[in-house]
Parts: sequence; structure tokens; C-alpha cells
Amino acid sequence: TAFKALGLDDELLQAITDMGFETPSEVQEQAIPILLEKETDLVALAQTGTGKTAAFGFPMLQKINSGSRTTQGLILSPTRELCMQITNEMKAYGKHKKGLNVVAIYGGASITDQARNIKKGAQIIVATPGRMKDMISRNMIDISKIEYCVLDEADEMLNMGFYEDITEILSHSPKDKSTWLFSATMPREVASIAKKFMHDPAEVTV
Ligand code: AMP
Repeated sequence: TAFKALGLDDELLQAITDMGFETPSEVQEQAIPILLEKETDLVALAQTGTGKTAAFGFPMLQKINSGSRTTQGLILSPTRELCMQITNEMKAYGKHKKGLNVVAIYGGASITDQARNIKKGAQIIVATPGRMKDMISRNMIDISKIEYCVLDEADEMLNMGFYEDITEILSHSPKDKSTWLFSATMPREVASIAKKFMHDPAEVTV
């Protein structure tokens, strides 16, 4: 299939078949081979509804080790709704990956319950910045070993005033991780965050 040609493994291809996806979307076609092929930063200009979640989700799921309990991937998103939606998509895409735990972290819900979910071992955390910063500062979450970090809807996160939270969160992550930034628009603030946190990113525009 066209998904196989992008380099996706059998467990993901099976999930893709289960979901009934027939052809990769434009952003998937462009981003997936780049992210699978090398460890690189990426800036992708893509609106909601373009299939961007799978564009970063498939490569992240393929690259992390679901047999280890270490947190390897972090996805930051602006709202609780988006956070839950991404979490559900990641669980569906990763359903054939043995041992995979994707945990959602967001405000307005029990921090104790979320901390308990994290303790079970989450390879991938999908979080809103405020609650994430809070849980890191309380030593409830360790992101010192993450290899992949997605800033989803970066323009929205900056509009909502999350710049300082994002900076604080990323200061607890390794310097040599790969950062993948997705944004519908590229205002000055997004360009500046890309410059601050990324090195020579590949670029994709759909
Ligand atoms: P997103 O832009 O990531 O919010 O995705 C929009 C919707 O498109 C989601 O409900 C996905 O399940 C769906 N989707 C993503 N990729 C594909 C694809 N290649 N074929 C069909 N549907 C897709």
C-alpha cells in the first residue's frame, strides 16, 4: 500500500487497515518519510483536519520502544479537548504495539489519578502545558529521557500564553531530542520558538 511505501512497520499498517485509511494525506506523505529516515527537527505548516496527528503519531509510535516503561515521547497541545483527541488517536494507531501506554495530562481533572497513570509507565505523554509544568515541578513526571517532542498547534499554544510553560517544560528535557513543530500559521512568535528550540529543521508545508 501507499502507507507501506512511506516506511511504516507491520503493526502500524495493521492499525491503518483496521481504521480504514486508504491513502496517506498530503502532510503524512511529506512528513512521515523524513521523520522515519533520520533523527531531525521538523517544522510543518498544516491546518487541523489535514491528518497531522498521524503525520507525527505514526513515526513516533514506530520509533519508541513499547517494551520499555521509560517516557520517550511528549506531545504538547493547547487544549484539553485536543489532548484527549490526540491520546485516543495515538492509542488507536498504536493498538498492535505490545505494552504501549499513552497517557493524557491536562488541567481540570484529578492530578492524583493522572500521576497514578504516569507511574504505570507511559512511553508517550500527551499534555497541555499548564498541568504538565505543574506535574514536572512536583516530580510526578520525568521527561529527562524523551527522544521526541511534538509542539502541536504551536500558534494556538502561544496565543494562549503558554510560551513560558513550554520553555520551562523543555528545560527538563534532553538537548539532543528531536522536536517536531506543527502550526497552522507561522507568525513571528512561532518562528522565534522554532529558532530557540530547534536546529536546522526540515520543513513541510501543505
Ligand atoms: P487531524 O488533522 O490529525 O485532526 O485528522 C483529521 C481526521 O482524519 C482524524 O479523524 C483522522 O482519524 C483522519 N485521518 C487521518 N489520516 C487519514 C488518512 N490517511 N485517511 C483517512 N482519514 C485520515
